[in-house]
Amino acid sequence: MRRVLIVGGGYAGFYTAWKLEKRLRREEAELTIIEPRPYMTYQPFLPEVAAGSIEARHAAVSLRSHLRRTRVVAGHVTEIDHARRTVVVRTKDRPDFEIGYDLIVVTAGAVTRTLPIPGVVEHAIGMKHVEEAVAIRDRLFTAFDRASVLEPGPERRRLLTVTFVGGGFSGVEGFGELLSLATALLKSYPELSFSDLDFHLVEANDRILPEVTDGPGRWVVRSLEERGAHVHLGARLVSATDGHVVLSNGVEFDSELIVWTAGNAANPVVSKNTDLPTDERGMLVVRADLQVGTDAAPVPDAWAAGDNAAVPDLAVGIAGALTVPNAQHAVRQGKRLAANIAATLRGRPTKPYFHRSLGVVATLGLGRGIFEYRAIVITGFIAWVMHRGYHVLAVPTWERKIRVLLDWLGALLPGRDIVSLLSVQSPRDAFISGGLPHAR
Ligand SMILES: Cc1cc2nc3c(=O)[nH]c(=O)nc-3n(C[C@H](O)[C@H](O)[C@H](O)COP(=O)(O)OP(=O)(O)OC[C@H]3O[C@@H](n4cnc5c(N)ncnc54)[C@H](O)[C@@H]3O)c2cc1C
Repeated sequence: MRRVLIVGGGYAGFYTAWKLEKRLRREEAELTIIEPRPYMTYQPFLPEVAAGSIEARHAAVSLRSHLRRTRVVAGHVTEIDHARRTVVVRTKDRPDFEIGYDLIVVTAGAVTRTLPIPGVVEHAIGMKHVEEAVAIRDRLFTAFDRASVLEPGPERRRLLTVTFVGGGFSGVEGFGELLSLATALLKSYPELSFSDLDFHLVEANDRILPEVTDGPGRWVVRSLEERGAHVHLGARLVSATDGHVVLSNGVEFDSELIVWTAGNAANPVVSKNTDLPTDERGMLVVRADLQVGTDAAPVPDAWAAGDNAAVPDLAVGIAGALTVPNAQHAVRQGKRLAANIAATLRGRPTKPYFHRSLGVVATLGLGRGIFEYRAIVITGFIAWVMHRGYHVLAVPTWERKIRVLLDWLGALLPGRDIVSLLSVQSPRDAFISGGLPHAR
């Protein structure tokens, strides 16, 4: 019985465990997954969670409900010592401890890349986790409530100013969804008008969405601007101290909500705390069959995939090309990993990972989207339907698909749920204050 240990239960890790459960007999391997969250996050749904179109829980796939044979350890791996075949695990409730293994799968993903810009750590929020998407939604709703009791002026303007820093996939999708939500919210706030809203998307490069080609990229900028947004291309965030945004193009404004979507960095457990081989970006070096190492120097008993691995992209036919870090690849790499590990345990040959991109599809807000596959570009409502169709098919398990479909159906009839539950973050306030908040 081999002990298989999976580090990280996101896309690639969850799929590896799920498929290994199906492929291996109980007596062949003992499966363990170490993941700080009790669920796998379906990140492509986070922009819709932020926009209130999908219930937060439905973007999370419970590990314990779906991984019936895998031991789930709620913790962070802080170190991988492959020479000793052990990892160090950190949890909240006991001193760090070691877990041994015979074979390791490293699928810890990437982390949000922050830069030392004044005010960012204190004021901004990321959009990689469910709690961040929920907080973004609640902060916007609360800002509307607060702004609605103010006279027009700088404070009201500040509350209704939203800034996204980073015009990649998650930034553009989140920005488009939030703009759509804010515009729709105005119907419920007769005290406020469209001219009170101020939405800024800041991107250091001279174009957004590097995943699509130039023409469609320009179309996305135009369509956001037609909806009243400011898109600052070739501009960097210089500071955000106390929510006062200063851009390198000279523009300055106060912003209540600053969302940081300026890219990913290597996961520190992989880039700093392991003896497994990494490249200059801190990604694990893997062969085409996802075993760690190179063809000349494979590392026995170590496998990796997803955003923390530099996976050769055989489909593009260019030597040295690597797969793009996205869900499309992570899911399929997880499945290939499971197949290759099962083959290895049974003494059979492995197969290389090969996947031709299915194109790019993104939501830009309710009823708006963009799809590109080679020369085919579809924009607007049809692309948005394709986005929803693709992702509801892609989210793992039928149970999640049904819940998400019901969320969308529910929003279609009575509209989005516009209640802010920001107060759940301080549940004892009412108990402590006796019902009357402090005067300003
Ligand atoms: C807002 C947003 C929208 C996106 N939309 C799309 C899209 O439309 N299409 C698309 O293809 N891609 C999309 N992506 C990208 C896609 O979600 C990622 O590429 C994909 O999740 C990568 O999978 P992964 O398994 O490598 O990492 P993840 O899914 O990030 O999983 C890594 C897991 O490891 C855990 N972990 C981290 N460190 C440790 C540790 N030290 N110990 C134990 N566990 C650890 C984490 O908690 C996490 O659960 C989007 C991403 C975001 C943020």
